[in-house]
Amino acid sequence: MTRSITILGATGSIGASTLDLIRQDRDAWDVRALTANCSAKKLAALAVEFGADMAVVGDATCLADLREALSGTSIRAEGGAQALCEAAALGADVTVAAIVGCAGLAPVMAAVEQGKTLALANKEALVSAGDILMDAVAKHGATLLPTDSEHNAIFQCLDGGELSDIRWITLTASGGPFREWSHEQLAQAKREQALKHPNWDMGAKITIDSATMMNKGLEFIEAWHLFPVGLDRLRIVVHPQSVIHSMVEYRDGSTLAQLGPPDMRVPIASCLAWPGRMDTNCKPLDLPTIGQLTFFEPDEDRFPATKLAREAVHAGGAAPAVLNAANEVAVSAFLDGQITFTQISALVARTLDQQLPPPPASLAEVLGVDGEARRRAIELL
Ligand code: NAD
Ligand code: MG
Repeated sequence: MTRSITILGATGSIGASTLDLIRQDRDAWDVRALTANCSAKKLAALAVEFGADMAVVGDATCLADLREALSGTSIRAEGGAQALCEAAALGADVTVAAIVGCAGLAPVMAAVEQGKTLALANKEALVSAGDILMDAVAKHGATLLPTDSEHNAIFQCLDGGELSDIRWITLTASGGPFREWSHEQLAQAKREQALKHPNWDMGAKITIDSATMMNKGLEFIEAWHLFPVGLDRLRIVVHPQSVIHSMVEYRDGSTLAQLGPPDMRVPIASCLAWPGRMDTNCKPLDLPTIGQLTFFEPDEDRFPATKLAREAVHAGGAAPAVLNAANEVAVSAFLDGQITFTQISALVARTLDQQLPPPPASLAEVLGVDGEARRRAIELL
């Protein structure tokens, strides 16, 4: 049986992993829309290869390039934020949300409103608008499949079990490239060093988030929305080998863990085939070669980001959206060489220290909070 699929953020790291899985089983999928921010040539080549109906660039100034690259084909080319939402709302059986940042929020909501299946990698959407998105998922009867490896691991360990039977959910974190660095070394950390993740090959923003541990902070908030067991039942453990992707401990003392190679095609395949399974050609786990699995408490003194995220979720209201927006500004400033590595979390903390806007009650209000928080963070820069 053929299923239709749309990939938001098709030119990125998650997009590439998803398309690689589709390539292995071309006849199983009918590709509806592929989107990117601007990389028009790359997007056009993918749209042609996969026979997409529609290709969209979020940045409307790149539409002329996209149209030129697709001239002579029957693929519809569009550009701009509204066109991204239109692609998300095509009603594909599965929509993969792999745009990075809050820029993916409105398209994610547009996909949820179709009541189909959403494979969500775009964690920032859930951090900024968790309550509103989860309400929309329930209202429209959508199926939300967590694609982030930790949340996919938890989803698999839950396997229909009762949230009330859970004692702990443990998110594992690799600790990133600076896990053993001192305060002094962290203050000197260079962009190129931060961009070298020890285990995973990912887009630039999430790689920096992994180095600061904000990725785990965002994932803590993401888990809180996806698996509402209560904040006191969620914890983070540093596990440098990235073999166990997360764990669920039940009240009888049983702990279930999901293991796999550090390859996003595994959790993506779990979403694409859910509730079944599909083949992947990922390198299998070789436990004797790995030898040891180790675990450590996070050090929030050197890596304050998880503490900031926990405080934001405790504060509730607009705080998580402000945290996310400030972090997006800070990461991009670090990548541009405007601030140092340790200033990333400091800028997020200072933005959160300012008076918070009232709790947002709609998608438009979340986007308003996001825009205002970005403005404040840029001012503080
Ligand atoms: P990436 O930077 O490699 O790709 C991002 C994609 O989004 C690209 O297609 C890009 O063109 C598009 N995009 C960027 N800005 C946009 C904008 N303003 N409007 C429209 N499109 C835009 O990122 P990635 O590593 O693939 O991550 C994507 C999302 O998945 C992020 O939220 C990330 O946290 C999450 N995630 C990624 C991984 C991973 O291994 N890469 C793992 C777990 C979760
Ligand atoms: Mg993750």
